[in-house]
Amino acid sequence: MADTYKAYIGGEYVDATGGETFPVDNPATGEVIAQVAKCTKADVDKAVEAAQAAAMDWAMTPQSQRSKLMLKLSQVLMQHHEELAVLETQEHGSPIRKTMGFDVPQCADFFEYFSGVSRAMTGETLPVGPWCTSLTVREPVGVVGLITPWNFPALMVTWKLGAALVTGNTCIIKPPSVAPLTTLKLAEICTEAGIPAGCVNVITGPGDTVGEALVAHPGVDRIGFTGDTSTGKRIMNVASASAKPVGLELGGNNAMIVLPDADLEAAAEGAIFASFFNSGQVCAAASRLLVHESLYDAFVEKFVEKAKSLRIGDPMNPETVIGPAPYAAQRDKVLYYIESAKKQGAKLMLGGGTPDASETASGYYVEPTIFADATNDMEFMQEEIFGPVVGVARFSDPMEAVAMANDTPYGLSASVWTTDLRAGLGLARFLKVGTVWLNEHLMVFCETPWGGCKQSGFGKDLSTMVLDEYTHVKHIYLDMNEGPVKPWYGILK
Ligand code: NDP
Repeated sequence: MADTYKAYIGGEYVDATGGETFPVDNPATGEVIAQVAKCTKADVDKAVEAAQAAAMDWAMTPQSQRSKLMLKLSQVLMQHHEELAVLETQEHGSPIRKTMGFDVPQCADFFEYFSGVSRAMTGETLPVGPWCTSLTVREPVGVVGLITPWNFPALMVTWKLGAALVTGNTCIIKPPSVAPLTTLKLAEICTEAGIPAGCVNVITGPGDTVGEALVAHPGVDRIGFTGDTSTGKRIMNVASASAKPVGLELGGNNAMIVLPDADLEAAAEGAIFASFFNSGQVCAAASRLLVHESLYDAFVEKFVEKAKSLRIGDPMNPETVIGPAPYAAQRDKVLYYIESAKKQGAKLMLGGGTPDASETASGYYVEPTIFADATNDMEFMQEEIFGPVVGVARFSDPMEAVAMANDTPYGLSASVWTTDLRAGLGLARFLKVGTVWLNEHLMVFCETPWGGCKQSGFGKDLSTMVLDEYTHVKHIYLDMNEGPVKPWYGILK
């Protein structure tokens, strides 16, 4: 029997206006696990009213108090560690060893970081004249809309919610329709931690109606979005009607460059993590491995051998590392790119379809798939796959590798593998991306900024830089000159 989930507005669960629901299934089995409120534009209005009603008190709450509540949130979240991990595994298909060992503890850690770093926010004093002083203060933007994707349902919302909430904004979250349950649970946990009603609201339902109504709403002051590049462009368009600021964390097709002097074993092992973590459903996943011709064959052999040991199957099994795609159409999209790679002449080295086992029969699984002899102009090397599929291409000169890495519409991340750090650092400067890792791939920390360039979007999540995204700087001018006549009035008289 499927559970019923309502929207979360003003600190409580509420039915959608109109009472409609939509199903959420378990991608490992295809079984419907929940019916979720299908909100309408009227519910967006209600959420905005709740967020506006809470906005002034929350904005005026001392920073120290908001910070303490954020720390409490981090602690209360961990009291729900297993419950959240199981929920995310069930709605998204992410292996339980990852949701237990990574996602939920990471969320707690990020809230703890925002609790700490927000207390260091300061303004400036500017002595603009002998009897005049200017001050700058950082103020919350107001009511913010946070629109999040399905690939890390809890973590992606945490990145934005932590920063927006701790800086004094009230938030309306629009979670992904395929995996909205952990976000709803998170909102409830916020209330349990003592965050006032109306500060965290969740509206569920289709992005093109509910999400878009949130973007267009005149009562929403800013949009923080993570998702597909095409959706990001649409959001930018809609937001432009009211000159609403947006932050866009969009897609990627990221290169891992292996130079001739790289540690071969480390690079092959690193590529396993870079390409197959979260079944390749990572905006920064290395889906293009660019390997120097001198170690190409040895690299491919090692990489394929290692990938054979990745266990695909029931995500509730603690041994599983590759779960299903989150919904059938996403599986089909990944299979489309596999067929496209075959047709365009890439050489299939591993996988290449859906697994043939009773354990995976009713889920949306795709095998870890490796293509050799890939070239950068192939469709699957240019577009975002968002699944466990990777192409290995060869290069002969490091600057050729840089040109290949840069030759996509995206600019999210890249990595360089080399024992010559001077060469690695040199190449890093030529890569048109938001993040470059040397001898690593996918490392993201609370302390380091995250965000892309080109069609991977703009704006930053994480680090102290995200505090700028959710605050605006107000200038307050203080005139202490005596009398009604100021020295510069003479310009007019
Ligand atoms: P989508 O763009 O399809 O959806 C993201 C969110 O936007 C969902 O909540 C969706 O709702 C909503 N949405 C859809 N249409 C609109 C609209 N017209 N107006 C407002 N909101 C809308 O992305 P996915 O969920 O498929 O996520 C995968 C994408 O996210 C990949 O491209 C990936 O690279 C990117 N991503 C980027 C990251 C980064 O940091 N750069 C990090 C993680 C992921 P609904 O689900 O109801 O359609």
